Amino acid sequence: MYQHKKLGDSFIVSIDNGCRIAAALTEFCRREGISAGEITGLGAVRTATLRFLDPATLEYVDKTFDEQMEITNLTGNISRKDGDVYLHLHASLGRSDYSVIGGHLLEATINGACELFVHPLPGTAGRRQDEETGLNLYDL
Ligand code: FE
Repeated sequence: MYQHKKLGDSFIVSIDNGCRIAAALTEFCRREGISAGEITGLGAVRTATLRFLDPATLEYVDKTFDEQMEITNLTGNISRKDGDVYLHLHASLGRSDYSVIGGHLLEATINGACELFVHPLPGTAGRRQDEETGLNLYDL
């Protein structure tokens, strides 16, 4: 699913071709016991699902893009919700015409490579669902 190497307090994580990024990162954080931290990365995908929350209706709009795209940037954070790893990931994705789409990343399947740095923080960052915004906000 992935290779990883710890250098100092941080990890280099290389997710295998054909694997799903969010699933692999969640598994990585579970195995390493990471409950707070930061993720940065790049790579290439063949499909990605982005999510947009309409703040007026609190409705999620999910859209899947089935095309080869470069991850020009992936940024995210690691926390815990209901006792399990909770990832918050955003990505910008470069299309073959060099335009870029982006947003809240639900999941993406790698076609090529996905190279990430994971910077764990000591301790736990918690989350809970907020009724007013409909978001799973930090509960610090
Ligand atoms: Fe988001």
